[in-house]
Order: sequence, then structure tokens, then C-alpha cells
Amino acid sequence: MNDLERRFASRVFNLSTMKQRLPKDTYEEMLRCIHDGQRLDLQVANIVANAMKDWAIEQGATHFTHWFQPMTGITAEKHDSFISPSGAGGILMEFSGRELVRGESDASSFPSGGLRSTFEARGYTAWDPTSYAFIKDEVLYIPTAFCSYGGEALDMKTPLLRSMEAVNRQAARVLKLFGHGDVRPITTMGPEQEYFLIDEAVMNQREDLLLTGRTLFGCRPPKGQELDDHYYGVINSRVQGFMKELNEALWELGILAKTEHNEVAPAQHELAPIFTTTNISADHNQLTMELMQKVARRHGMVCLLHEKPFAGVNGSGKHNNWSIATDTGVNLLDPGTTPFENAQFLLFLSAVIKAVDEYQDLLRISVASAGNDHRLGANEAPPAVVSMFLGDELTEILEAIETDTPYGGRDEEQIKIGVHVLPRIPKDSTDRNRTSPFAFTGNKFEFRMPGSSLSIAKPNIVINTAVAESLRQFADELEGAEDFTQALHDLIQRTIRRHKRILFNGNGYDAGWLDEARRRGLSNLPTTPDALAHLLDEKNVQLFERHRVFSATEMRSRYEILLSNYVKVNHIEAQTMMDMVNRDILPAVSAFSAKLCRSAIRKSRVAGVACGYEKARGRELSRLTDEIYALVNNLGEAMSRADTVDDSLERAMAYKNDVVTTMDALRDCVDRAEAMTDKAAWPLPSYTDILFSVK
Ligand code: ADP
Ligand code: MG
Repeated sequence: MNDLERRFASRVFNLSTMKQRLPKDTYEEMLRCIHDGQRLDLQVANIVANAMKDWAIEQGATHFTHWFQPMTGITAEKHDSFISPSGAGGILMEFSGRELVRGESDASSFPSGGLRSTFEARGYTAWDPTSYAFIKDEVLYIPTAFCSYGGEALDMKTPLLRSMEAVNRQAARVLKLFGHGDVRPITTMGPEQEYFLIDEAVMNQREDLLLTGRTLFGCRPPKGQELDDHYYGVINSRVQGFMKELNEALWELGILAKTEHNEVAPAQHELAPIFTTTNISADHNQLTMELMQKVARRHGMVCLLHEKPFAGVNGSGKHNNWSIATDTGVNLLDPGTTPFENAQFLLFLSAVIKAVDEYQDLLRISVASAGNDHRLGANEAPPAVVSMFLGDELTEILEAIETDTPYGGRDEEQIKIGVHVLPRIPKDSTDRNRTSPFAFTGNKFEFRMPGSSLSIAKPNIVINTAVAESLRQFADELEGAEDFTQALHDLIQRTIRRHKRILFNGNGYDAGWLDEARRRGLSNLPTTPDALAHLLDEKNVQLFERHRVFSATEMRSRYEILLSNYVKVNHIEAQTMMDMVNRDILPAVSAFSAKLCRSAIRKSRVAGVACGYEKARGRELSRLTDEIYALVNNLGEAMSRADTVDDSLERAMAYKNDVVTTMDALRDCVDRAEAMTDKAAWPLPSYTDILFSVK
């Protein structure tokens, strides 16, 4: 075993550690608990907790924490030490099964969207044994779900686990029909994480970056990403040092960091891990985002995870690669080599097509945030309209099935599901379209709308549940069929006919596509409030209730949290803008235009001196100063008006229509002023200073 193999997952209490450390029967109980969802009784939990504690202490840990993911989108932790008084003036190190399995926590300062009544502030955390405990900074972390005392989900993990259960249950029914009664399906996910790295010193001079994570002002740099010279470019040594340390830290935590490269925009990079079970992958992604920020600081840099830190430059996404496999490792979205495998593949493919078409709005909602609004629909990110790309070959196959016509080389024969072998679908031919929000990439789907800072649980909750619903309906129909092959053919054909409007192989950035999408009846929800207005639509509530992923109450609470979050983010951004304009930008522009005017007066005393520049610029900048001044006042008024609106959706709409539009207008004026002002007089580092700050 080489050194890296030894260090990999060395900070994780995973199956191999459990096997070494637990008595055989306890280990087997743990396996049943992890794989079959069986409850551990307290005695067994005590043995596991004790072994975990001994292992953690050997690794230098002094504390443990239940680690959870509240609706803030980031993780939460509260450390407790293992110490307990020995009774003889000393201490013992203790950790009980009860402490492992369940924790009580004051839920009152986490967003609950009205779920928590004032008299019941308690929440509890419950161990998720399917995601391994790990050690970070001398603390034993136990991944947990976070619920209110009444059992309502207050976090991202609980609904994610419920959605995995839902889709796994329905997929098992379908697999049984294909003769695989004994396999356990499980969803998989690999998130490609984009981010920016900038120098800490530059960051500290930008109030907007410090407070909001993005630049609220800044005119376009003379050089951006036009030359495409950053993408896959040579990684500079400072960034390389960061990546090396990050990889080491991730590997110790058992995170399969695999691919790293420079992205399209200057200062932009990407990290992709090897995919794994969805909920582990979601936990790992949270840890990855956290460690990226910590490690960057150690290298004198700041890692920006905002979806759109810079206007006019590519934003950052988090591509969500999704598939479903069996516990024996067979990927159900891998086209097979036998007719039977192909039929099964086509059925799962149809299930995803139907799911994406019927729940377009939910997919859009799952990625909606104030930050992602600046990215989606911009010309380098997927549009806000959801569509699916399958590639030419698969599209032709589906067309042949739809119309009962021969496909390709298959002569006069009709394509009958389960009868003919599909051609192998080369992975390469399916992944050429980078503009599609939901693309089939050979053996998985890549959902490209999620923004870089999003909890990846959110889109996966929707994909899992929507696919569960398709599979439920499919299983209902096929379980009763007399002629399975015929029923399968009819079902797939009907599904394609009904849902083909969602399939689009063209250019998603093309303006004409939006018109075409409207003609097809696809939903277009350009902003977060537009999208959230549909979260509680009856069909959506029914979907989540039916599969027991969210109750109606839980959905309403999320609706409130998401709307209020949208308002808060925009409120903070508007306040920051006003502060910067009033205290930095207006004084600087005014002083510079005054300087120009003064030199015009002085110079004009000399006969024959024209002062064209000083006069014209002085005039222009004075006019802009007044415009900026008027807009900053308008912004304050717009905010005051919006803040008085009671209903949360209407308030979010008022922010969108009134506040955000005024912010855009204000930014536009300030950026024009920046382009005309003496660099030495401008109070903020420029886009060039920021984007090329890591040397
Ligand atoms: P591409 O370059 O076409 O996007 P990659 O093979 O680089 O494809 O994969 C991108 C991401 O997709 C990686 O995180 C990878 O682990 C993940 N991935 C690959 N196969 C699957 C799968 N079956 N389920 C989920 N994610 C997957
Ligand atoms: Mg990819």
C-alpha cells in the first residue's frame, strides 16, 4: 500500500474501520443498519459509540458533534467534549450510544419558516448511519438529520434521504418486472464544483465582495475570457499549491477528489469528485465547499462560491450528474447489450423524460436563489427554461419507437421494445451540447442549472421524487399487464408521444429558443419569485406528499424560508450598494470632476488652450454624479416601499420589480463613471485588479 492509499479515508469511521474495531456481530448489525435501514438497539449503539470514541481519541479528537444541514444552505455544528468527571477529581472520556444516535438542539435560531412554534424551540438531530462519521480539526463529526420536535424536517438531509427511499422503492418494483427481484437500487451523484480564487488583499478592499460574495459594481475589464486562454490552461503554482493541500484534506476525509482544471473565466477553476451514493455525495460536497474556503485562506486567497461574482464574466455552476444503479453496481442508465437490458434502459430513460417534463417548474425552483438569478439566462449559463438533450442517436431511436418505423440499419423490421438490440450509444456523441440544462451524457444525466453555492440536496430531492412518481405509474401499469413486452412497448411509446416537447437538441442560448419553448408550452420562470410562486401548486404538493418527502406544512415552511431569503439577500446587497455609493463612490467621482473643472478654469486662463477633455469629462461626470445620487435615493425609497409589503411572495416580487431593477440602473451609471475616472482616484480595485490578482 503506498502512502496515499494509506492516508485515503484515514479520518473516516468507514466500513473497513468498523470491521477492524467492532465485534463481529456488532459489525453485522451495523451493515444491516446501513444497507437495510434497520434500527440499532441501544446496546449495540453503545458498543459502536465506544469504538468510535476510542478510534477518535487515538486520532487526537477531544470533542464530538452532531453535524447537520439546516435551511441556511451551509452546515451547523456544536462541539461537546468527551470528558466527564471521574468522581476522584479527574476525568473519564465518555461517549454513549444515546449521544451517538440522537441529540437535542435549540432550533430557535435556525430558519423554520413558521414550523417552530414559540413554545417549542427544541429540535433534534438523528444519526444518519449511511454517511460515515469523520474527524476534522480534533472533532468527531457525526452526520445527522435535523428535525423539529414534532418530526418535521428542518434541514436538507431529511428530505434527501426520504426522496432516495422513494425512488429506490419504485425502481425496485420496476426491476422486479425485469426479473431482478433481489437487487436494491440506489441513486448516485457526482457534483462538478466551479469556484473563483482571488487574492485576499484585493478582497479586503471590496466591501461588496466581503459582505455579499459578489461585485456589485465594476466595469468590464479590457481582457476577460475572450481568448479562451484560461480554460484547461496551465495552472499557476499558487493555485496548484492550493489544489494540492485541498486534495490531501479531501482524501483524508474519504472524498474522491478526481479532476481539477482551470475554467473559462480568468481566476475560475473546477473540482470534480468521482460519483457516489447521493446522500454521501451531498455531505461530501458541503465539506468540499467548506474546505475550499479554509484552504484558500491559508494560501492568502479567497475562494468565491457565488454563482455570479463578476458581471460580464462566466458565473459558477455545480453540474449535478445523476444516475440510478443497483447495489451490484449496474448503472440503470447505461444502455445495455441485450434486448432485455435495452428495454429496461429505455424504460428508465422514459421515466426521467416524463419526470423532467411534468416537474419542470420544480426543477427550476430547486435551483432558484437570488445569486443564481444573475447566472441563469445569462449567455453562458443554461437558460431558465428547462429542456432535455439526448443527442441525435438516442433521439432517432425514440422517434422510431414513437412512430413504429424502422431505425437506422434495421431494415424493414419495426423497433419493438425487447425484441431488437439497440445500437451501442457512444458516450462521445451524446455530450456535445453544453447549452442544455438537462443533458444525457452517455450513462447519466447532467443537470446544469444548479449554482455553485447551492446545497446539492435540493435538485436531487426533486429529481429523485419526480422519477419515483414516473416509476410508480409505470410499475402500476406493467404489474397488471398480460403481455409484458407489448405493454412495455405501448408505455414507452405513449410516454415519448406525451413528453417529447421537453426534448431539445438545439442551442439553449439561442434567443429563438425561448419563443420555441413558449410555443411548446414549456414553463419559463426567469427569476426566483417567479419560480417560487409555483412551489405550492397542487400537483407539486401532491407529488411530495404521495412519496412522503415533504408534508404540505413542510413545503409551506420551505416556501416562506426561500422567499424570505431572496428578500434578505437583495436587502443586504442594496444596503451595501448604498453604503459604497454614498461613502466611497460619490465622493470620489465628485472630487475628480471638480478637479477637472478646476484645471479647465486654470488652463483656460492661458490663451489658446482648449481644455476639451477637462470640460467635456467634467460635464459628463457631473451629470453622472447627479444621476447616481438620484438613483441611490430611489433605491432607498424602493426598499422602504418593498419592506412594508406583508405577503412574502408579493414582497419578493416588489424586490424583484422595484429594488433589483433600481440596483441594475445604479450599477450601470457607476460603471460608466468608473470607465471615465482617474484610476488613482477610484476607491475600489478594478475588475482587472481582482480577476488577475492571483499571480
Ligand atoms: P463529463 O466530462 O462528460 O461531464 P465525467 O466522466 O468527467 O463526464 O463525469 C463528470 C461527473 O459525473 C463526475 O463527478 C463523475 O464522477 C460523475 N458521474 C459519472 N458517472 C456517474 C453516474 N453513473 N452517476 C452519477 N454521477 C456520475
Ligand atoms: Mg460534465
